Amino acid sequence: GPCQLSGNVHDCSCEYAAVERLNKDAVLPLLRALVRTPFFRYFKVNLYCDCPFWPDDGMCMLRDCGVCECEPDEVPAPWKDADSTAASCEGSGSPSRLEAESEVDRSVDASTKVHLVNIHGWRGYNNPWCLEEETDSEYSYINLLANPERYTGYKGEHAHRVWNIIYSQSCFSGIAAPDVCAERKVFYRLISGMHSSISAHIAQEYLLDEARDVWGPNIALFRDRLGNTGVRERVENLYFAYLFVLRATLKAAPLLEDIAYDTGFPEEDARTGELVRKLVNSEAVQTACPVPFDEGRLWKGKDGPQLKRQLQSHFHNITSAMDCVGCEKCKLWGKLQLLGIATSLKVLFSAEDCGMGSGHPPQLQLERNEVIAMLNLLERLSASIEAVRALSLQLADGSWEQ
Ligand code: FAD
Repeated sequence: GPCQLSGNVHDCSCEYAAVERLNKDAVLPLLRALVRTPFFRYFKVNLYCDCPFWPDDGMCMLRDCGVCECEPDEVPAPWKDADSTAASCEGSGSPSRLEAESEVDRSVDASTKVHLVNIHGWRGYNNPWCLEEETDSEYSYINLLANPERYTGYKGEHAHRVWNIIYSQSCFSGIAAPDVCAERKVFYRLISGMHSSISAHIAQEYLLDEARDVWGPNIALFRDRLGNTGVRERVENLYFAYLFVLRATLKAAPLLEDIAYDTGFPEEDARTGELVRKLVNSEAVQTACPVPFDEGRLWKGKDGPQLKRQLQSHFHNITSAMDCVGCEKCKLWGKLQLLGIATSLKVLFSAEDCGMGSGHPPQLQLERNEVIAMLNLLERLSASIEAVRALSLQLADGSWEQ
């Protein structure tokens, strides 16, 4: 049958090998191209909030932790315009959130595109999994391509303190206790899957020779963190997170297909839309893995609503913990990936539909940054699955030990 809630890839129709193939041949190439487009490469984020859990003892001295912000004229002009409109609305006491510029009305003009909600800050829109935005929050635009996620040298007690906070909020130790409900398990597996993905990228792109600036795979590190049978669960959680976000993306397809991907470069923007449509309509994706798991079964118990609120508040704490990460680049990717998870949770677990087959405009609204975060997260997870496949082969081959 289709994947069960446990998200165990092996008890579902999508076997590991099938997911691996699907990913390598159909999903990853499209995502790689997609994250290079102007629309998907700029992420709006605030990297300079204080850590709410302990006094800031930033250790951003590491060379590879630095993040370079965009030059002002690099930010897509339509986005800057929308930002200044949002800012002036705030000043006049109007809501800071700019609702869709034009409501979708497909009956009038089939070519009308959905204009994404644009909020002044950077967090999710109307998203119960996101913390409320502070109105005066500062943010900047970061070119993700210029700041790739890879080994940075951030480690040790400082990094562990942050992971400890994160896991303390995940309410689930990872040990398969029978009384742990499916919802908590899903929550834990998403976080652990993201952690595995970060480890996979560190192993894949490690600084092998600092003096000569040589980057490449570190197989021993891969073996220790992801490549031994003792930590098989971490890899399973990576697959789980990947299928979860893929499912959210497919569910949001009607919306994603209709978005006006507008960065002021019509040709490139047209290609962006085309790549998104290819991804969400890919027959390979739809047939190989139709229902990664049945999210409709979650939150149905009598404690459902309360449990949801509790997990949402834990998720807020995890988001806050990102401000304690002592490495700017890790913080950037950590924040992006958490917003991507929050967006996937919003899409999969909201009562509003995405317009699927209903003939109505989608009720669910997404903010530009949410779309950017979700698809960049999917690309990261997809690249990690491929890295685990490739590094496992190198590990088994043994020649790296010489
Ligand atoms: P860690 O990865 O720090 O893990 C700590 C403990 O968590 C482990 O001992 C284990 O008990 C448990 N654990 C490990 N993996 C999992 C898993 N998948 N599921 C469940 N439990 C697990 N470093 C970089 O070089 N580049 C980055 O981009 C980067 N981004 C980061 C983003 C965030 C948000 C954080 C908190 C850290 C980031 N780091 C990054 C640091 C990196 O994650 C590690 O902390 C560091 O490399 C030290 O690794 P470690 O082997 O000590 O174990």
